[in-house]
Amino acid sequence: MRVLIVGMSSMHDPSAAIYPDVPAASERAWVDIDLAAVRENFRRLRAKAGVPLVAMVKADAYGLGMVPIAKALGARFGDDAETSDAPWALGVATLHEADELRRADYRGRIFCSAPLTVRDLPQTKRLDVRPALHDADTIRSWAAHFGGPWHLAIDTGMARAGVRWDRVSPLCEAIRFLPPEGVFTHFHSSETGDGSLAQQDARFADALSALRDVLPADVLVHSDNSAAIASREPSSEHATTRHLARPGIALYGANELPSLPLEQVVALRARIIDLREVYAGESVSYNATWSAPGPRRIATVALGYADGYRRSLSNRGVALLWGRRVPVVGNVTMDMTMLDVTELGARCAIGDVATFIGADRGDVLRTDAVAAAGGLSMYELLVGLKLRAPRTWRL
Ligand SMILES: *Cc1c(COP(=O)(O)O)cnc(C)c1O
Repeated sequence: MRVLIVGMSSMHDPSAAIYPDVPAASERAWVDIDLAAVRENFRRLRAKAGVPLVAMVKADAYGLGMVPIAKALGARFGDDAETSDAPWALGVATLHEADELRRADYRGRIFCSAPLTVRDLPQTKRLDVRPALHDADTIRSWAAHFGGPWHLAIDTGMARAGVRWDRVSPLCEAIRFLPPEGVFTHFHSSETGDGSLAQQDARFADALSALRDVLPADVLVHSDNSAAIASREPSSEHATTRHLARPGIALYGANELPSLPLEQVVALRARIIDLREVYAGESVSYNATWSAPGPRRIATVALGYADGYRRSLSNRGVALLWGRRVPVVGNVTMDMTMLDVTELGARCAIGDVATFIGADRGDVLRTDAVAAAGGLSMYELLVGLKLRAPRTWRL
């Protein structure tokens, strides 16, 4: 993959546009990432949460570029001073991701949310990562041989990682040895409003009270991901019992809830590379899933599922072209996707740029809406955008 980012130090200058709006004419498909929109979403999440944030930048910032996103958020790289509104920490899921941040000379805190084993501990220490631990042996090993801040992971119903909320007492001995800097849980359905968030809150509270005697008074309690932050009432007592929050997807402009409007961050664009006429009854693309109801003008766009435009958007997606929404017809292929551009007439030409996610000429295809059209998880849609299309970052 081509790395388009250059002169990272200029990223602290908000006026420095390091990329032209549209890449070189040879570019077939590309992903535009609006860093000002990420910053604005961070600001709104910070205000809504009312506590410092661990910015989740795992999985290459959900496919959008971990280092450029971290820099845009004012995280501390090199000798630069940390901005006062910078994230409290960056959140990763693997030590490899932490290593990438350290290689880029990130000097702030790193929280690793996924469990680590005893074998990972030397590297955890070397990279100065705050691990999420949950079993007595690993906690004792960390305390005895490495030390340093760590966070206790509590499973309140996700059943993925952490100690069960009703089985925390056996950990008290190990925790006394080296008390954690933080204690956290993770919600499984915070965007659904199904009552599970309240149940998990209650289980988390039970676990915290069982650990009351061994947790430091100033332990950092955290639970909320993007949707949980958005769903909290401003006056809730919850606000006084949490010290950090961990948003991911909302930073990247997806998973919008009515209580927290977000700026669109991503644009996925591609050029038209061929145009043809088809006649009534003739099919388009693999498996002939679409046939022309009459004479139609079909544009071939240089974008496919190898660029992250998923095959489930076949016959369901739309693109913005000359201010109109035009439908994807036939199956999305690995390298090309077809659009029915009949209603644009002769206006549509080879070289035109079609937008499949994001804004163009006053209209916007939101990441949430595109994912919904394809029956996709918006997380998977975003993460897939780093497959092949070059990414460009705009300040
Ligand atoms: C990924 C992750 C988050 C962020 O979740 P979003 O829904 O993207 O906001 C927070 N905490 C943990 C433990 C995670 O794994």
